[in-house]
Amino acid sequence: MTPPTENAITPEKVASFFLLVEALDNGGADGRRAGALTELPCGPGVVELDVGDTSPRLEPVQPDAAVAPEALRFEPIQIAGRDALVMAVPPGLEVRVNGRPTPRLAILDVADQVQLRDAVLHVTRFRKPYVGPPTPEHRGRRCPVCSVSFDADTRVFVCECNAVLHAEEQGTKPDRDLLQCSSLGTCPDCARPVSMTTGFVYTPE
Ligand SMILES: [Zn+2]
Ligand SMILES: [Zn+2]
Repeated sequence: MTPPTENAITPEKVASFFLLVEALDNGGADGRRAGALTELPCGPGVVELDVGDTSPRLEPVQPDAAVAPEALRFEPIQIAGRDALVMAVPPGLEVRVNGRPTPRLAILDVADQVQLRDAVLHVTRFRKPYVGPPTPEHRGRRCPVCSVSFDADTRVFVCECNAVLHAEEQGTKPDRDLLQCSSLGTCPDCARPVSMTTGFVYTPE
């Protein structure tokens, strides 16, 4: 799968939600084959999917368009410091999440499946790890692994939970002075594995 449009690598946006829209059977009306996935970035801000009258047109609604009477709305939010995706379902539209009927508001996480008529939306995140010099905002903060505060000369890894860990490169100082806290392999804040891989954290089989 091709990665979404390149964005500048910034530590502020290490990971963001995407919907992978799977058309199960749309008769090929728009040229999409069944099972093909369309990537739909979610956030920041509200994303609306026009679901049409009979056959869903799973297209993002332009931000300045008139409010669609029937649209699924998605908005990334933070709950207790963790990212989540809120879905608002219009009245009268039957939507299932992982096979169960969903209330008007649902909180989605990675690998959830939203079933809507003859389409499935897979929830995932695109991760683009940041490894580089600390930003002004990082400086003075303490590393959760070694408690040493970040100075301008170090190199850091930013987790998708926004935890910042030392990731100093060999050769930049004597080995015994190197702070390589990200090499522990697990983020102490969110317990996710430290991964330098760019791409979707989940894709449906
Ligand atoms: Zn550290
Ligand atoms: Zn983390």
